[in-house]
Amino acid sequence: MNEKEFYKKLAYKTKNVYEQLSADERREMMDMCDEYRVFLDAGKTERECVNEAVKMAEANGFVPFKSKDSLKPGDRIYFINRKKNILLAVIGERDIEEGVNIVGAHIDSPRLDLKQNPLYQSKEMALLKTHYYGGIKKYQWTAMPLAIHGVAYTKDGEQVEICIGEREEDPVFCITDLLPHLAKDQMAKKLGDAIEGESLNILIGGMGINGSDIDDSVKYNVLNILNITYGITEESFLSAELELVPSQKAKNVGIDNSFVGAYGQDDRVCAFTAMKSIFEVEIPQRTAMCLLVDKEEIGSTGNTGMLSKFFDMAVAELIEKLTGKCDMVTYNRVIRNSACMSSDVSAAVDPNYESAFERQNSSYAGRGMALMKYTGSRGKSGASDASAEFVHEIVSIMNKNNVVWQTCELGKVDQGGGGTIAMYVANLNMDVIDCGVPVLSMHSPFEVTAKGDIYMAYKAYAAFYKDR
Ligand code: MN
Ligand code: MN
Repeated sequence: MNEKEFYKKLAYKTKNVYEQLSADERREMMDMCDEYRVFLDAGKTERECVNEAVKMAEANGFVPFKSKDSLKPGDRIYFINRKKNILLAVIGERDIEEGVNIVGAHIDSPRLDLKQNPLYQSKEMALLKTHYYGGIKKYQWTAMPLAIHGVAYTKDGEQVEICIGEREEDPVFCITDLLPHLAKDQMAKKLGDAIEGESLNILIGGMGINGSDIDDSVKYNVLNILNITYGITEESFLSAELELVPSQKAKNVGIDNSFVGAYGQDDRVCAFTAMKSIFEVEIPQRTAMCLLVDKEEIGSTGNTGMLSKFFDMAVAELIEKLTGKCDMVTYNRVIRNSACMSSDVSAAVDPNYESAFERQNSSYAGRGMALMKYTGSRGKSGASDASAEFVHEIVSIMNKNNVVWQTCELGKVDQGGGGTIAMYVANLNMDVIDCGVPVLSMHSPFEVTAKGDIYMAYKAYAAFYKDR
């Protein structure tokens, strides 16, 4: 062995996914990403993602938990929480007390929510007030086509689904921005202050009703159209959940079609790949679970976030159905012996903004599934720091299954930071590691991911279900 070969044996080097793939795997990767783009277009809100997840799960043999009188290895079930969370499970051979394998991702994404009383008229235009959801750079949401998705109630108490701005013939909505010619004051402001939260108002109408005596005739016309189309009134907004999202469809990016560009890939890229993996599980050793939660972008709070009791309750019900009862000791044993891949996106090094990253400990688009031992900020605060034992276990499974992977943390020390659902899962008392797909332009209306990394995330979750 010469010196060069010896050094290669000693030193660590990341791999490029595309150099490792066979022609068949490349084809499988491209096909999977075509399917992924369809999923992204169909699921632009947490509710829509749950609907899509149910459709996909049922097509793959999953049935509602409640429909089963008893369970045996290989059975495929799902639980739904308030139309915004879903837990899929495939029952394993081993005793449930030996723990379960969970891949957890979130299906909420940064967006603009309508305020409860949003509609007003100003300067012969009708507008809707919004309150942004999650961490956004506000300037990115102006001067682009937006669609409205969500639910509202009619006066008769009927829930109607609203989705405007996605079909070719639909109108879209937008937030107007100031022309550069008159933006001297605005351009002098700091980027974060240039667009104010209270100026994220949506243009929804501009034509009054002919011959009307109503002063706010444009607003009147908007209400009239909404009433004719959906049977709703202005009061309906007060209980509605209506979300503004980019109306653009998911696209391939690059002349070689190597990337996916779309809204909401944080974290639907992990939700999709986790589902694809669990669909392929037949009879696993440990029970396999795919958990898709809401509210991660605002701290995992609320009854549909990771901090709710939904997951604990579903596991308890599962134990009860499998063993006839579920006491505290059994439940805690199951959790103690379980493990979770907390699957969320990481920040890919951006050639335009290299200085925000530390080269040696950041993730790169095209270098595979990213493992994050810890997240957090300012001295790892708020991190679930995975143990050496667990990281080693996961890495061994990845290597055994030829998964291309890399490790990372979120940017330079003290440059910012962030958290995921990992710390809340860890609080239950199980082993958790953050992992997922590196993203460029994270939290923007057009996030970019590398297809090789999407494919490797899918392979990683499949390996975890099979071998842990
Ligand atoms: Mn995320
Ligand atoms: Mn996020």
